[in-house]
Amino acid sequence: MDLMEYQAKELFAKHDVPVTTGIVATTPEEARAAAEELGVVVVKAQVKVGGRGKAGGVKLAKTPDEAEEHARAILGMDIKGHTVHRVLVAPGAAIEEEYYFSFLLDRSNRQYLCIASVEGGVEIEEVAKTNPDAVKKIPIHPGTGVDEAKAREIVAEAGFPAPLTDQAVATVLALWKVFDEEDATLVEVNPLARLAGDKLEALDGKVTLDANADFRHPEHEAFVLRDEEDPLEAQAKDKNLNYVKLDGEVGIIGNGAGLVMSTLDVVAYAGEHHGGVRPANFLDIGGGANAQVMADGLHVILGDQQVKAVFVNVFGGITACDEVAKGIVGALEILGDEATKPLVVRLDGNNVDEGRRILNEANHPLVTMVDTMDGAADKVAELANA
Ligand code: GDP
Ligand code: MN
Repeated sequence: MDLMEYQAKELFAKHDVPVTTGIVATTPEEARAAAEELGVVVVKAQVKVGGRGKAGGVKLAKTPDEAEEHARAILGMDIKGHTVHRVLVAPGAAIEEEYYFSFLLDRSNRQYLCIASVEGGVEIEEVAKTNPDAVKKIPIHPGTGVDEAKAREIVAEAGFPAPLTDQAVATVLALWKVFDEEDATLVEVNPLARLAGDKLEALDGKVTLDANADFRHPEHEAFVLRDEEDPLEAQAKDKNLNYVKLDGEVGIIGNGAGLVMSTLDVVAYAGEHHGGVRPANFLDIGGGANAQVMADGLHVILGDQQVKAVFVNVFGGITACDEVAKGIVGALEILGDEATKPLVVRLDGNNVDEGRRILNEANHPLVTMVDTMDGAADKVAELANA
């Protein structure tokens, strides 16, 4: 799960990273009230995407009037496809220098990585391209992590100015605690700023929490923002379905992540011969493909206006094909009039003959059975393009 800046800053504060948390506002009036309390402020769009500053989503306000005006302009703004529902009203800081700092999980090298640069700020991607030597990469052994000696090594390598050394070491250790103790896969601060009076402070924060460790952090549930979720993804999550919305026209249901992923590929490939139709989603119903689970899955997919046809691709294993077939028939009964789009079903595996017999006998007008995965992909692409 990606966190908003204000949420990342809450975690920073908890682990003693120097930060000012500010006040979150959802209306221009709330932003004004916050500015009356804080004085000169920066009004910052809260969206889970970078480059807000360049998109006009970060504005300095010297008076409460200005804060209200900026909040009015920023709330509702679309930044790279994300609608702004909240702004963070943060005390305005006098910045002298901007640094870049991050810890991340480096999967391909099976280790953690620290990336740091004293040439941070909104142009960091440009710096990485034109002056890669200014961006230091320091590997971190996953067994030992970051202790004081390692933090000193990082600070020296990055080249933080001498007067800031001790603060930088303390900040690196605190950020490591955020990364390690909160089970994050990314902790990024850009800018980590040198303010007037040689004070180091995190002015922005980006944190990705590792969902695999959610069981260790019941408190992270509070970071879930329902109004920021795709409504269909939220619905699927409620039903414990593994659903990801994509942009195409062919709804896809399968059992097992591997099967669903390869189904995306064959559908995209088949779509090339049928007007370029593409998968509309990823939906893995897992092992227990009973009628209710199938109905829940179809309900989510049929709720997507972009979907023109649905491909149900199931390989019978522990849940045999006859159970799955009964599940599909039962799901169509549960959905009734809601089921209006053609379904292409490919069943194979354990007890396939009985499964196909059940579907043939039900003879539902929306269902077409195709025996092979490629054949079914071609059929569903054709129907989606009709
Ligand atoms: P991003 O563009 O999404 O990364 O948003 P940031 O929070 O990093 O803000 C972008 C830029 O706005 C920063 O690099 C700063 O230059 C500036 N900025 C952010 N917060 C403040 C602040 O409190 N005071 C001042 N003067 N500038 C700020
Ligand atoms: Mn930033």
